[in-house]
Amino acid sequence: MSTLPQERTTLERQLLDARLTKSILLSPQTKHLELKVDGADEFRFVPGQFVSIKHPRPDGKEHTRAYSIASAPRTDATFDLCLNRVDDGFLSNWLCDLEVGTALRFHGPHGLFVLREPRKDAVFIATGTGIAPIRGMIEWLFEEPERNRGHQYWLVFGTRYEHSIYYRDEFERIANENSNFHYVPTLSRCGDRWQGCQGYVQDHVREIVAGRSDLQAYICGLHQMVDANRKLLKEEMGWDRKQIVFERYD
Ligand SMILES: Cc1cc2nc3c(=O)[nH]c(=O)nc-3n(C[C@H](O)[C@H](O)[C@H](O)COP(=O)(O)OP(=O)(O)OC[C@H]3O[C@@H](n4cnc5c(N)ncnc54)[C@H](O)[C@@H]3O)c2cc1C
Repeated sequence: MSTLPQERTTLERQLLDARLTKSILLSPQTKHLELKVDGADEFRFVPGQFVSIKHPRPDGKEHTRAYSIASAPRTDATFDLCLNRVDDGFLSNWLCDLEVGTALRFHGPHGLFVLREPRKDAVFIATGTGIAPIRGMIEWLFEEPERNRGHQYWLVFGTRYEHSIYYRDEFERIANENSNFHYVPTLSRCGDRWQGCQGYVQDHVREIVAGRSDLQAYICGLHQMVDANRKLLKEEMGWDRKQIVFERYD
């Protein structure tokens, strides 16, 4: 049985430097960043955790913002982020404009938005950059067959337009290679050519979980979506709150 890497939820605030090695535009407002921790052979974390990035404003005041790690742990001290530009936001725009080769300062990993043991069939629910920690979890689960064997997993990802279905090729590949991974991207503002699911994530979550009270749910995104799905699962479906693990970005 393959178990999760040892959970690290330390309160330590040791500052580390990481250098940007790649910056890719995923949509006009969204970037995928790849970083390498300076002077380290390995950066250990549990899939789903976040880092706290620090940067001073021009007035010298230091700002810290949390960003979920968008990859599974690797052996070379690298990790990915997936982030949105926020209107008038300080750190998100600084990160999105960062030049490859620049270093940033962070502490972590932190957070409890991680896969629960014992693992059960699960539905992952994300909108927008809420996909970040879930990409790390799914990457980890499907890296080795024994991590997902005997379980069914669904990913319901909601966004407005087809061009903002982040990491679509990766999730389609996992779904093609694994009959126990079900990928459900859904668009709230689709064009006529879109043949897939439409509407909000909770419309599809309702169908997936109907008649099943033994699943886990991992939800990540802005609070409105997270709260709507928690309400659906708890009040409409009668789930226990322990079955629902969530991270809110705002
Ligand atoms: C645990 C955790 C993990 C996170 N992971 C990610 C991630 O992986 N990717 C990602 O893109 N973001 C993530 N966030 C959100 C991120 O930490 C910042 O809040 C966001 O990038 C805005 O920071 P800023 O300095 O640019 O904006 P600020 O200068 O703090 O805010 C500017 C304005 O934007 C509003 N605002 C703040 N945050 C958001 C938001 N998330 N969406 C819309 N409006 C907002 C504020 O109310 C304010 O009016 C995460 C948040 C948490 C708590």
